[in-house]
Amino acid sequence: MTHREEWDEQANCAECGALVSRAAERGFAFGEAEVLCFACASLRGGQYDAEEDRWTRAPSLTGLPVSDEPAR
Ligand SMILES: [Zn+2]
Repeated sequence: MTHREEWDEQANCAECGALVSRAAERGFAFGEAEVLCFACASLRGGQYDAEEDRWTRAPSLTGLPVSDEPAR
């Protein structure tokens, strides 16, 4: 869990723990190295624009374990 290179490839969803591949899946990345899987991000109010291939509305991060760095 200390190999930072691997964070760029895959990360565990901060909510449900599912492994999210950043390159292949629509995970919502936040904080230092946190990510929400698509399902959890959607449940938290996030809106994903498939055409623009990006989140147009960020999901709520309330109650999630955020690492040292503030989200923004
Ligand atoms: Zn999840």
